Amino acid sequence: MQVIPGVHQITHRFVNIVLFVEERLTLIDSGFRGSAPRIAEYIGSLGRSVREIELIIITHNHLDHVGGLAELKEMAPQASVAAHKDDLSRDEIGLPYPGYALKLLKLPLVSLLRPLAYIKPDDVDIRLGGGEVLPPMGGLEVIHTPGHTPGSICLFSPERKLLVVGDILNNRHRDIIPPARMISTDFQQAMESVKRLAQLDFDNLCCGHGKPMVGGAGARVRDWVKLRGF
Ligand SMILES: [Zn+2]
Repeated sequence: MQVIPGVHQITHRFVNIVLFVEERLTLIDSGFRGSAPRIAEYIGSLGRSVREIELIIITHNHLDHVGGLAELKEMAPQASVAAHKDDLSRDEIGLPYPGYALKLLKLPLVSLLRPLAYIKPDDVDIRLGGGEVLPPMGGLEVIHTPGHTPGSICLFSPERKLLVVGDILNNRHRDIIPPARMISTDFQQAMESVKRLAQLDFDNLCCGHGKPMVGGAGARVRDWVKLRGF
């Protein structure tokens, strides 16, 4: 669906992928494994080609947001992949899941999922630190918002008053909800990140799960933060 002109949200298996359609195509997140054909089909329906994707930005290194990356890279080999460095650990201890989930991933059968659970540093071309301004949307600000994972980022377009937040906020049945505590590395830190996001001047919000909010989204997030006593 089109969110605002030039900004589309593709939903596949309850996960959102955001597409910026400009002279170049930019994708935010890649969905679960198996999402790439759906993404290619959607881009085709706009009269464009998946091969035109120049940049894939990862909001955070969780399997429902990065699982489709390898297939997508095969379809769009020239695309660069950008992700925050704090989600790209080579050490067990720095992997972007809470401790109990990492223990689960060690169990014999569950460990088969391990290669799908996160991408590795070598899968990423551009290691972000937060504070960068990327070329899409006339200047897309990278905001480091740790808490759901150590390297969660949000993407902010001041020109379009658009904020793309990954899982740090979600939209369930038109209600803003925080990230699931169970799969967040530091919930309190996530809430501190949301508090910072609420200061931004945006009207439109795309979340990792749920429908986009078009118009008045910034005010809604500010009210939500106030209500929770921040
Ligand atoms: Zn997540």
